[in-house]
Amino acid sequence: MSNLLSTRSQASNPAFSNPTPQVSVIVPIYNEVQSLPHLIEAIATAVTESQISYEIVCVDDGSSDGSTDLLKHLAQARTDLRAVILRRNYGQTAAMSAGFKHATGKVLITLDGDLQNDPADIPHLLARLDEGYDLVSGWRKARQDAALTRLLPSKIANWLIGNVTGVKLHDYGCSLKAYRAELVADMNLYGELHRFLPALAFIEGARITEIPVRHHARRFGQSKYGLGRTLRVLMDLFTIFFMKKFLTRPMHVFGTFGLASMIGGVLLGSYLTFLKLGLGRSIGDRPLLILAVVLFLAGIQLFSFGLLAELLMRTYHESQNRPIYRVREVVGTETETV
Ligand code: UDP
Ligand code: MG
Repeated sequence: MSNLLSTRSQASNPAFSNPTPQVSVIVPIYNEVQSLPHLIEAIATAVTESQISYEIVCVDDGSSDGSTDLLKHLAQARTDLRAVILRRNYGQTAAMSAGFKHATGKVLITLDGDLQNDPADIPHLLARLDEGYDLVSGWRKARQDAALTRLLPSKIANWLIGNVTGVKLHDYGCSLKAYRAELVADMNLYGELHRFLPALAFIEGARITEIPVRHHARRFGQSKYGLGRTLRVLMDLFTIFFMKKFLTRPMHVFGTFGLASMIGGVLLGSYLTFLKLGLGRSIGDRPLLILAVVLFLAGIQLFSFGLLAELLMRTYHESQNRPIYRVREVVGTETETV
């Protein structure tokens, strides 16, 4: 650990040669105190070897195991590390969002802080991005996690997400990904949405690809997740589905049905009125009368529902400026970010 705490020489550190680093490596950290020193060294080695200017942005997501202090210490000692300390534990997606906001690089790389992703894969992601992609996603081909509780649910989830969103990736859940910074600049993430970034990016017209990456078993500590996350991920999938299909213009979906139903009701009603008033027939015992009334009332309800949904969407979008995390402090690297 001692070499980590020593300040790296400015000449040997490419993070210094360029005020705007080419690459920001973003890592959410929640109780990863043992992994941290190895992780940062491994990232620095991987990126330095590929001769690119970089910064590491570690986001401490309310750790309670000493990660926070270690991170602050490292960020003061190193010139290539910025520590963003959140006020409490907000979850991986929020931590990643905070990382995106505090990163200054042109390319953003995300990976887990537990050494399960291998920083040595970063140059491969970058090379792929250079081929003209906006997002390169890692695919843990030989994933080192429990088969029944992790691999199976994730296989099903990947299949579902691929079919629903139309972006077929083998491994949505892999945190190791590379993005062009402008792609995520105005994305509002919440819930478990970070894994859907490829789908959200695709809706925005991004070119997306996937490459196999290494994956290791957790060396220190334990996973922060259980089966409950799979369910939360599925619920988020519904959100994405509705976002893509309906929610952009809910009024168009519900409103059209409502309007059609209302018009049907009015036409039927006019026909019955004509029968009664024009031809003097009795209409009291006709099932058509019930249908006319039902259609008309259902139409009004559907239409109002569509209108409400539209208003809700507006409010939802406008409320997105609300941060999903709060930053306590930012330590390290001269460049101050918003
Ligand atoms: N993480 C986080 N906040 C949380 C849970 C996890 O920042 O509330 C981080 C964690 O420290 C790790 C990454 O997210 O860097 C992935 O977590 P984990 O390794 O537990 O997930 P798994 O690999 O089991 O899917
Ligand atoms: Mg992990």
